[in-house]
Amino acid sequence: MLFTCGSRTLCAQNKDGWFKDSTLRIDYIFAGTNRTQSIYLDKLKAYDGWYGKHTGMNTIPLQGNGCITITDTTGMDTLYRHSFSTLFQEWQGTEEATRVARSFENSFLIPMPKNKVQVTVELRNMYNNTKSYLKHIIDPEDRLIGKHDKSKTLPYTYLHKSGDSMDQIDVVFVPEGYTKSEMDIFMEDCRKSMEAIFHHKPFDSMKDRFNFIAVEAPSEQSGVSIPQRGEWKSTAVGSHFDTFYSERYLTTPDIQKLYDILDGIPCESIIILANTDEYGGGGIYNNYMLSSARGRDYRSVIVHEFGHSFAGLADEYYYDDQYETYYQTGIEPWEPNLTTLVNFESKWKDMLPRGTKIPSTADGKDVYTRIGVYEGGGYQSKGVYRPAQDCRMKTNQAPGFCPVCQRAIRKLINAISHEN
Ligand SMILES: [Zn+2]
Repeated sequence: MLFTCGSRTLCAQNKDGWFKDSTLRIDYIFAGTNRTQSIYLDKLKAYDGWYGKHTGMNTIPLQGNGCITITDTTGMDTLYRHSFSTLFQEWQGTEEATRVARSFENSFLIPMPKNKVQVTVELRNMYNNTKSYLKHIIDPEDRLIGKHDKSKTLPYTYLHKSGDSMDQIDVVFVPEGYTKSEMDIFMEDCRKSMEAIFHHKPFDSMKDRFNFIAVEAPSEQSGVSIPQRGEWKSTAVGSHFDTFYSERYLTTPDIQKLYDILDGIPCESIIILANTDEYGGGGIYNNYMLSSARGRDYRSVIVHEFGHSFAGLADEYYYDDQYETYYQTGIEPWEPNLTTLVNFESKWKDMLPRGTKIPSTADGKDVYTRIGVYEGGGYQSKGVYRPAQDCRMKTNQAPGFCPVCQRAIRKLINAISHEN
């Protein structure tokens, strides 16, 4: 209850006055097993400029699997909230988590408070219960808060600038496995990726809400680590395929290295492009996305992963042999493009054509456009439903996002656009 807004008026208040025009980066370690979760505070660092939201600061558009909340020191007044998902929580569902405890880096950017505040980080489980949380006080005068040296900010370029970074949603491209002499190739790959995103509805008509930035962070070696072939490279953010032993799953464990690259740069959403044509990627809500910059279906993969990392969309594909339960029947998932029909009103019920049967029959007609309630989604063939027969969140062949995903993205952009 502590984190619920007491009234609409309170939620609508602008909390900007509590914060300075600077950013506080907080590094945490999330650790545990399949049954345990612990959160540890690691380091704090500050730099000039706050590029995140200035209004609606204490509201979140999507629940995510975790949340960071800033309150006054009494815990009564909620000043800022930010939701996210983590690789750690995904890992907790793996077999490995039943036999060993592991730790994962997680970093967050929050507005620097003017006075002492209380920060609470909470992680939920698949039953939507808070499983662990950490509360700590931040004193802006704390002399152990590191200061980023402006002269050390890496060079960056605006590839698309629709306005000041204080006002726009800043998406940053980070190069992974591009050497110094390959920076031109990286810039070209960034442009193609941005065009792929802008080619999709609703991004095509909302370009004016975004800035796209490319940061120059060369890697020692060219390419990316592919453990299944015994290939390991020394790269900017240490990413690799075979995450959780899944061949195509490309992620990075080196989140602090990633944020070291971003220190001082306006950043609200992170796209890591890997210099490889090997098929693969990964995307985690309000965390980061990683994708191969070239090769088979790279445009579709980049936009699909951006759907995860930027818009919190779930995978709409599923396996016929259900290998494990990811979404619990009886609990409505928070992702806007899946339902277990527990609280379908909160999803796309209002978009269903009159007389739509639930569940709907996938008859192979109007597969991208006809909205229904199709069984199969979120890796499960039973008990989870998706809005269209096909969608960018289901296959690489789909031409774009289904109408429900499009509306969800539009709503999210409107919610986090700074001018709201
Ligand atoms: Zn969709």
